[in-house]
Amino acid sequence: MSGISLQSVSKRYPGGVLAVDGVDIDIESGEFVTLVGPSGCGKTTTLRTIAGFETPTDGSIRIDGEDVTDAPPYERDTGMVFQDFALFPHMTIRENIAYGMEAAGEYTDEEIDARVAEMLELVELPGIGDRTPDQLSGGQQQRIALARALAPRPKALLLDEPLASLDKQLREQMQVELRRIQQEIGITTVFVTHNQEEALTMSDRLAVMNDGQFEQVGPPEAVYDDPDTRFVADFLGTANIFDGTVLAIDDGYATVDCGDVTIRAQNADGIDSGSAVSVVVRPERFRFETASADGGRQRPDAANVFEGEITFKRHLGSSVEFRLETDDGQELVVVRRSGLNERAPGDRVTVTVGADDCRIVET
Ligand code: ATP
Repeated sequence: MSGISLQSVSKRYPGGVLAVDGVDIDIESGEFVTLVGPSGCGKTTTLRTIAGFETPTDGSIRIDGEDVTDAPPYERDTGMVFQDFALFPHMTIRENIAYGMEAAGEYTDEEIDARVAEMLELVELPGIGDRTPDQLSGGQQQRIALARALAPRPKALLLDEPLASLDKQLREQMQVELRRIQQEIGITTVFVTHNQEEALTMSDRLAVMNDGQFEQVGPPEAVYDDPDTRFVADFLGTANIFDGTVLAIDDGYATVDCGDVTIRAQNADGIDSGSAVSVVVRPERFRFETASADGGRQRPDAANVFEGEITFKRHLGSSVEFRLETDDGQELVVVRRSGLNERAPGDRVTVTVGADDCRIVET
């Protein structure tokens, strides 16, 4: 198995659009990396430069240590799966899976038969080799597309929104299935999606793209909990974002004037007094205050305290989301575990959040 390395890769299309703008990443052998970002940010173009369907305008691409920047797709040993499956409708499932190996002309009939059977087992669809694609469900077709891509033992698997056309339940099932298969064979994988939840749940690392660039690359927990920029905080999951100016820095914390509120936040490197910043608080970081027996606050030391009223409540399964309007006119989103929350719209509440749970990011 092998890694993929992109160095300063840019792609400008003939019409002048700079779709990819100097991206760098070293993807380790066996790693599952997701390119995620809004429509038009350059995810597919980046993937297509790895596959060889597009030639970068600048920069270089290595697969398994070999420079493939100018190599055609068939010399790159990558397997690709597309959103629309792209199975050959007139061929049987067996013929579809065998296609890449037949085209390579390097395998005996016995080797191909054995590999097709192995792939059908891997995607848990043994016994359907004689059917045609129109006799399969959407989820089954997607598994076959995966089996077809993996059959010739590619060095890397490239997936372009492969689950986008499946309904929600099937999509979640296939997320698990895809990850199981990827881990079972340990293949280096680059996955493109604009679905942030999918990116957070499936990847070893994700690269959040914006306007042709990687805004942040890292493991899901790190990117979610510690976003570098306002864009990343806003794009991945729900974020409470307060824009303001740093008033003072002391003891590794910053005091930020956000108009109606002043927030104490964990300091970020390179931030000085007077800097314009955003403070990000994830909804799970807030806590409701309940008055203690002596009438005081439970967490008198909490750095940030908001008083207000619940305006909206909805159940998310294992957790509950609240919307609050604070007395300062801020709207907050607070998520707490189900079962602990009898609170309802109209209730007056106090929520607190520690300075360590308030992150300063670039605006
Ligand atoms: P989506 O999620 O909508 O598929 P994406 O992040 O994959 O978007 P790309 O398809 O890589 O984005 O497109 C990036 C930019 O390049 C867009 O502005 C798009 O319009 C432009 N673009 C894509 N393909 C071409 C092309 N063949 N010729 C000219 N411009 C293109």
